[in-house]
Amino acid sequence: MITAAQTQTLLAAIILVAALATLVWLALALIARIAPRASLAMACANAAAALSLTLHALRGVLPDAVSYWPGDVLAVASFALLGAAAPAITTRQLVWKPGAAVVVVAALALLALPYDGDLRWQARLVNGAGAGLTLAAGIAAWRSLGGPANGRRTPAPLALPLFLIALLMAARSLETVVHPGTMPDMRLPTEFNLVFLWTALVLTLLQNATLAFLVLMRLILRIERLLERDPLTDTLNRRAFDQSLEQAHAWLKRGRGYALVMIDMDRFKQLNDSLGHAAGDAALRQMVRELQPCLREVDRFGRLGGEEFCVLLPDTDLAGAALVAERMRALVDAAPLRWLEQDWPLSASFGIAEGEREDESGDMVLARADAALYRAKNQGRNVVQA
Ligand code: GH3
Ligand code: MG
Ligand code: MG
Repeated sequence: MITAAQTQTLLAAIILVAALATLVWLALALIARIAPRASLAMACANAAAALSLTLHALRGVLPDAVSYWPGDVLAVASFALLGAAAPAITTRQLVWKPGAAVVVVAALALLALPYDGDLRWQARLVNGAGAGLTLAAGIAAWRSLGGPANGRRTPAPLALPLFLIALLMAARSLETVVHPGTMPDMRLPTEFNLVFLWTALVLTLLQNATLAFLVLMRLILRIERLLERDPLTDTLNRRAFDQSLEQAHAWLKRGRGYALVMIDMDRFKQLNDSLGHAAGDAALRQMVRELQPCLREVDRFGRLGGEEFCVLLPDTDLAGAALVAERMRALVDAAPLRWLEQDWPLSASFGIAEGEREDESGDMVLARADAALYRAKNQGRNVVQA
């Protein structure tokens, strides 16, 4: 025997969870400032859901003009916000316009429907819109999660709760079609409502937990990036580069060779002294930007210090490295630094070396590349030396 107390308690539980989730997301957005836009959208989605369900629970208590139409519009808005927030956590872009359009259209359509006791069309529309919005969000989230855009891959099945919510809302939307006699009131003690509310409670928890986990992943990725990058040029810092070098050297023992290209800007002190430190920094950034297209995804570009850089090229021999270095040299030489309406010629010298099985560590290869660089400087700069 299902009682009204059961459905009402479940409804209250969902409202409580949504209200608590609102506070947590607000704290993430405003205090911790992690994924602030997506977190704020999640806070609003939960707040709209809590408010909409509260209005539903108070139907008959509050004036009809307050509890019916506004409650239904808030429900659609809550799905639209969830649909915008969920993919935004990984894509970093809050695509809100399609969702807003659905809310406006649904709000107008609901205005045209009379709230006169038979609310089946309202229920079909609200829940159908909810199903469509979460389905679209699930597809968007699935794509962005599986994609390689995320340095480290986040498993696509994390989008699954969105599909389950879409399924649940579709079921609720079709309920009055399959059983035309039933009234679409969540508080009625029916078997369907009991299953629906339990599922909704679990999915509300699951959806919030999944997105909170994704926000945490995003934070971890950001910290990892900060730990291994040079802030000025966004290349690997010395520590991260040394790690990559040791890894490549370990692979060398298993037959996978690698080469190093050491890069040192020419007469950099002169540039700094003449145009100032800010110009020097701009020159470093410009060089890195120019060289980036020469690199493959597997190559590692690091700043060893000052105006000295090194590129690690896996599966590359000395001849291959010479080709890359020569292309890089020509690129740096071709583009002067434009500073305060003035052109300052830039060039760099290059030293290359290949990892040999006899080398005890990557540092020995680095020392050879450094020695080659020293010879390049002695040769008059702006050249590649092996
Ligand atoms: P060479 O052609 O022999 O390489 O001459 P150079 O002047 O480039 O060589 P050196 O290594 O003696 O000078 C490097 C200078 O780079 C010293 C320092 O003033 C400058 N420098 C080091 N780090 C930075 C940085 O982060 N920003 C700027 N703007 N300058 C830096
Ligand atoms: Mg230099
Ligand atoms: Mg130097």
